[in-house]
Amino acid sequence: MKSVSTNGRSYRWMDRPLVVVCVDGSEPAYIPEAVRAGVAPFLAHLQHTGTVLDADCVIPSFTNPNNLSIVTGAPPEVHGICGNYFYDRETGSEVMMNDPKYLRCGTLLAAFADAGAKVAVVTAKDKLRTLLGHKLKGTCFSAEKADAATVALVGMPVPSVYSAELSEFVFAAGVKLMERDRPDLMYLSTTDYVQHKAAPGTPAANAFYAMMDQYLAKLDALGCSIALTADHGMNAKHRADGSPDVIYLQDVLDGWLGAGKARVILPITDPYVVHHGALGSFATVYVDADVRKKIADLPGVEVVLTREEAAQRFELPPERIGDLVVVSTRHVVIGTSKARHDLSGLKEPLRSHGGLSEQKVPLLFNRRLRGVEGRFGAHRRLRNFDIFDLALNCVEEKVAA
Ligand SMILES: [Zn+2]
Repeated sequence: MKSVSTNGRSYRWMDRPLVVVCVDGSEPAYIPEAVRAGVAPFLAHLQHTGTVLDADCVIPSFTNPNNLSIVTGAPPEVHGICGNYFYDRETGSEVMMNDPKYLRCGTLLAAFADAGAKVAVVTAKDKLRTLLGHKLKGTCFSAEKADAATVALVGMPVPSVYSAELSEFVFAAGVKLMERDRPDLMYLSTTDYVQHKAAPGTPAANAFYAMMDQYLAKLDALGCSIALTADHGMNAKHRADGSPDVIYLQDVLDGWLGAGKARVILPITDPYVVHHGALGSFATVYVDADVRKKIADLPGVEVVLTREEAAQRFELPPERIGDLVVVSTRHVVIGTSKARHDLSGLKEPLRSHGGLSEQKVPLLFNRRLRGVEGRFGAHRRLRNFDIFDLALNCVEEKVAA
């Protein structure tokens, strides 16, 4: 049987079009809450006719490391993208990792396209497009920077980058592309605008999942295999009064060591800060002094690891993280200096991600799986970046509804 091998995995050729969806920031409770509210009949049905699992995402539980893991089938130590920023000690500058030159391996999307598959990729934000579309011979565009032909195809105006509609555009484009081109492989990646604002079960969250449910049902009706996961979860990160619960770690270290002795890098930092004010639950610190124990003792810190420990535990490229990796607890985030965070865009109490508390994500299929234990071992935890492997290598024929 025809197959494609890349990054140490081999994938069976698809027997029907496969659509893999990465729902940005989809904390596991969102889907069950929408199902309970009766607004997501397709997702509800998966419990009977498909497969409903959960999985662990990559730490840091951020968007780019996880999207790249999903499309390479490999952890960041292999693909190299471990955040939006790293600090280059040689040049003394903070470097943005949005450029494909930081990508250390090819994607399975490009590998399938090279083997003759028709591949389509649609992302919400443009920041992911060049990474996901690296060396891809196929269709690849973002909703944010959709061109006139795409807008005409989708039949929706280009939405604001800060809107639920940006994700709806991705799904609508996916359905139209499937109707028009019938790609063999399609990857759809949304934005977590809604998840940053609305908790599971709230009206805004349920409306988002109801929207998504309708498009997934259309793709299912078009005869597609569908597999869905998330890049990371999402949690409330604020105090009872609604103010963000922040450890301003640069200020703390400056107080202990003097200004400029340590450098705190927040790899969540990106050009779209309105969601989260660049506040997440993961930081990396470049520091010579032994402050590990002192940081670990700060209230709200879950774990502090050395570079070597973090690289091993989280499968990260050691040369792109600091001397220490700091992860905060479920409802706490880490900042640099208070003065460097513009929180004026935060209109609702902060919800964010980045830590171990956002590692659980859904893993759903519209088909039954078989042979998962045989392929992955009985005790290996499933990862979100196993999704293509599971969807292509472990599917059973679809059960009639
Ligand atoms: Zn994300």
